[in-house]
Amino acid sequence: MTEPLYLEETNHRSFEATVERVLDDGRLVLDRTGFYPAGGGQPADHGTIQLDRDVAAEDSLEWPVVDVQKRDTIYHELEGTPPLDELEPGATVVGTLDWDRRYAHMRYHTAQHLLSAHLLEAYDAPTTGNQLYAERARLDCRYDRFESEDLAAIEAAVNERIDDDLPVRWYELDRDVAESQLDAERTRLDLLPDSITEIRIVEIGNEDAPYDRVACAGTHVESTGELAGLEITGRETAGSGEERIRFRLLEA
Ligand SMILES: [Zn+2]
Repeated sequence: MTEPLYLEETNHRSFEATVERVLDDGRLVLDRTGFYPAGGGQPADHGTIQLDRDVAAEDSLEWPVVDVQKRDTIYHELEGTPPLDELEPGATVVGTLDWDRRYAHMRYHTAQHLLSAHLLEAYDAPTTGNQLYAERARLDCRYDRFESEDLAAIEAAVNERIDDDLPVRWYELDRDVAESQLDAERTRLDLLPDSITEIRIVEIGNEDAPYDRVACAGTHVESTGELAGLEITGRETAGSGEERIRFRLLEA
């Protein structure tokens, strides 16, 4: 399994890795990667993979990364047909993220946590799904219907948490420990497949009394102040007893 560098250090814009294999369809497997594979409502990272030749190579080889998927391991889809003879197993490559895109996903993912926490706390409305992009996001939750004054109050509450500039942290926890110590619904532990024994916890707020704590394998910013401000742009029904809220963030 590819070592997922993005879980620990979310601020690395480039990384070095070794080619493990290239599939016939051109998908690339590395020993480690900083590219986030699509999942949990967060889109895959884009960027480039460059063959490190250690010389002043004028013909430096570089391929755009257009998709990243996690299956049994992590697969990087490169644009075009990469020459298989250049990307041999054992070759050293440098991966560089499209940082604007990744940073936007980090901001939106962190905002989703704040919104989910408030909806559960104030409306007893657990989040059932979410999808974020680089310039907008939506969240589904179990609730009958939000009126416009609800939406205004929700927006104000989330913006307060943003103005508080709360710290954001993440760490690994044994599933047994997590299940015995944390509120399973609130942390969304119940949504994880049984095969997962190590849980990644993402925590917002002071260490002794965190405002929010959930299981999440996405990437996030280090403080809520980086979100600048949240604007709810609309709501609609997402099915019986399900509400969908659309939002966007102000420019950082
Ligand atoms: Zn998350």
